[in-house]
Amino acid sequence: MGAEYFGDQTSFADIEIISLCASALNKLGPDYELKINSIGCPVCRSEYEKKLKAFAEKKIDGLCDDCRDRLGVNPLRILDCKVESCGKILSGAPDVSEALCPDCADNFTEIRRGLNDRQISFTPDVRLVRGLDYYNGCVFEFYAKGARDAIAAGGRYDGLVKLLGGEDVPAVGFAIGVDRIMPLIDFTPEKPDYMIVSAGAPMDGLTAFADEIRGAGKVCVISSKPKLKNALKEASAASFRFALIMGEDEIKNMTVTVRDMVSGEQETLSRKEFLKRL
Ligand SMILES: [Zn+2]
Ligand SMILES: [Zn+2]
Repeated sequence: MGAEYFGDQTSFADIEIISLCASALNKLGPDYELKINSIGCPVCRSEYEKKLKAFAEKKIDGLCDDCRDRLGVNPLRILDCKVESCGKILSGAPDVSEALCPDCADNFTEIRRGLNDRQISFTPDVRLVRGLDYYNGCVFEFYAKGARDAIAAGGRYDGLVKLLGGEDVPAVGFAIGVDRIMPLIDFTPEKPDYMIVSAGAPMDGLTAFADEIRGAGKVCVISSKPKLKNALKEASAASFRFALIMGEDEIKNMTVTVRDMVSGEQETLSRKEFLKRL
């Protein structure tokens, strides 16, 4: 689940995207911590990579096999190695925030200021790089309290659209890991409200009625079962609170029979009256 913002290279788009991700997580519920970093533009980033490589090559004997491989391909990635011994060595690595060119440093300052203005709390983390080559500028990760893996993450990837054969369009975006966030959410679905049961009568006009009910913010589903008994069974199995019986009599008289699926009580009233009560 994610969002991408195309066409704006300014910090405004980064702040909007981080803020959108934060408000989605706020709605979903888990407590989280936001970490942010800037990995610079291609110019200052390649300067930094040289420094980092020179540092890591001196300590290469202590690095894990993965890090040794990464050093040749994408040196930034050694910074987020989860192996403890690598972490210790790299805690002394040159700091990416000191390697940013003035434009990148200003951009990152604006983003931090914007997040502060919107009361989004964050921790700068110079070891946060994101695994993918196409990122530039600001990158971020959201962690649930106590979790080791990020539940949401993203960043800026200005060169990606062009790299994939499109126009040269700046972009920033995020993705939320649905599989990671599901166990953290108190997920008690509400009971659906109404199932319309036609009991074999013609179904024309029922969709318009269903739309009016939905328009009032209620969940409404039309049963496709032609027999009343089967349709009521279906409504009960799916925990609908009410069945709206619309058989031939109801259609003729423009009424609806509302059946409470828990008590079994039912009442016939005009459709107008029913919609008014919603
Ligand atoms: Zn730069
Ligand atoms: Zn490593």
